Amino acid sequence: MQIPGHIDPVPIPRTVTPRADGRTDLLGLSSPQIGDLLVEAGLDVRQAKLRAKQLFHWIYHHGLTDFAPMTDMAKAMRPWLAERFVIGRPQVIEAQLSTDGTRKWLLRSDDGQDYEMVFIPDDDRGTLCVSSQVGCTLNCRFCFTGTMRLVRNLTPGEIVGQVMLARDALGEWPNGNMASQLDDSDDNSDSDDEAPEYTADGRMLTNIVMMGMGEPLYNFEHVRDALKIVMDGAGLALSKRRITLSTSGVVPMMARASEEIGVNLAVSLHAVTNAVRDEIVPLNRKYAIDELLAACAAYPGANNARRITFEYVMLKGKNDSDEDARELVRLINQYKLPAKVNLIPFNPWPGADYECSSPERIRRFSSIVFGAGISAPIRTPRGRDIMAACGQLKSASERKSRAELDRMAEEKSAALG
Ligand code: SF4
Repeated sequence: MQIPGHIDPVPIPRTVTPRADGRTDLLGLSSPQIGDLLVEAGLDVRQAKLRAKQLFHWIYHHGLTDFAPMTDMAKAMRPWLAERFVIGRPQVIEAQLSTDGTRKWLLRSDDGQDYEMVFIPDDDRGTLCVSSQVGCTLNCRFCFTGTMRLVRNLTPGEIVGQVMLARDALGEWPNGNMASQLDDSDDNSDSDDEAPEYTADGRMLTNIVMMGMGEPLYNFEHVRDALKIVMDGAGLALSKRRITLSTSGVVPMMARASEEIGVNLAVSLHAVTNAVRDEIVPLNRKYAIDELLAACAAYPGANNARRITFEYVMLKGKNDSDEDARELVRLINQYKLPAKVNLIPFNPWPGADYECSSPERIRRFSSIVFGAGISAPIRTPRGRDIMAACGQLKSASERKSRAELDRMAEEKSAALG
């Protein structure tokens, strides 16, 4: 049944915008997909498969955006590739740096849509918060992104492109030699060139969270395809244990997410009664708390070593009482969930209906949950000064376009007046 309100997915097909120069962008394509393109371009199947494997490694493992330095590729093949293909990146419109080291990038797609990604450095890790949609349909009441209209789903290239761009910005591509990893000997190649071996140690980007703009499970196929590239050992090679997908509770997709992606799960719970959750996470009107927690209990792969994270935003007088904390413990125990609770002090944004709970209230809530043997750390807000904190993402262009709309409305009424 369709429930009134913005809680159903709005499928917005995205056809790849053809490039003016007629070349095809390989960013976001898997090795078999690259192989298919090479066959279409005239290579025989065996040759295409081998070249696709090499290209995949150069693109996603080494971060190359140019064919010329692909040293194990026949010399004549490199200009042939460059005539037909490109290896793109999302366009960076603005890069901001917070006083706490958090970085936010405003990105633009080739059809002019803006979206954001955020990098949060910590002592022992660096987390990239990746967007899955331009805008969001779900309208969670505490979330700035939710006030944006949904424009469209991001493509696999635009999703994986965020990780590539972060590695570019952090200077984290290995300058390694792939020859040892591919069974290819090509007389025309210069793969014997000296190249240092790749080492993964000391990287800044260690973790990925699908918690940026959008509901990832409403863009399931693209998110899955992008994360498969991110996890591929011949590519970006990030372990699935270092990737977390956050959902507001799209129950029918959760089992599929486990089977086809298999990363860690985070659930935006934010309330322990349906009355409150209906208000702050409207998707609850479709998939209520009991149904959601039952789906979490059935989430394959969840165990004490891979606990489900429950995100809980602390809203003053709304969901932050001692009773709420005790009910949270009761629910987690009732469903026997291997769980961790992340308490998120509400990050304010212009026009928000809520206030953040007091630090004492948050500490008290945390201690009740901890007291029941469930980890409930309080997340330190990051990047608030650049509107990069949790729930604050909304593209600057959208903010501008609203202002522009207001200006246009004023001009129109002045003209009519
Ligand atoms: S919290 Fe996530 S799902 Fe909810 S409106 Fe914001 S971006 Fe969308």
